Amino acid sequence: MNQTLAAEDLLTETELLRVRDAIGAAEMRTSGEIRVHLEDHIEEDVLDHAAFIFEELGMHRTRDRNGVLIYLSVADRKLAVIGDEGINQRVPENFWNDVVGLLKLHLAAGRAAEGLVEAVHMVGEKLRGHFPLRADDSDELSNNVSFGRR
Ligand code: CA
Ligand code: CA
Repeated sequence: MNQTLAAEDLLTETELLRVRDAIGAAEMRTSGEIRVHLEDHIEEDVLDHAAFIFEELGMHRTRDRNGVLIYLSVADRKLAVIGDEGINQRVPENFWNDVVGLLKLHLAAGRAAEGLVEAVHMVGEKLRGHFPLRADDSDELSNNVSFGRR
């Protein structure tokens, strides 16, 4: 991985599908909705920006307010995992730290796809205890990896 790597070049088509399928699999076990969003680079604070993207993607429009965004700015490896208010009311502030740490390790080793797949799996496992799958579940947010335009 180098400093000029663009978001679209981080993952191959096959890897994008692996991440999408990991989200689908995770969402079979929890009512929480997981999204992965990639951008080239950012200047601003990653948490502030991830919160902005969360809104942009309409991720606050879930029934139980339990969407989780895994955000990565590719060139500068800034990343954030943020959950909606339904989750934040139930979990401690550092709830996602180990997911961020794991993903950072994978990115540093050039294993972006593995890192994202594992991060998605980990988020799903954490969510299922607080938000088990409901009988009337629907796929409220797309499982496709999304990209920023800048
Ligand atoms: Ca769902
Ligand atoms: Ca979904």
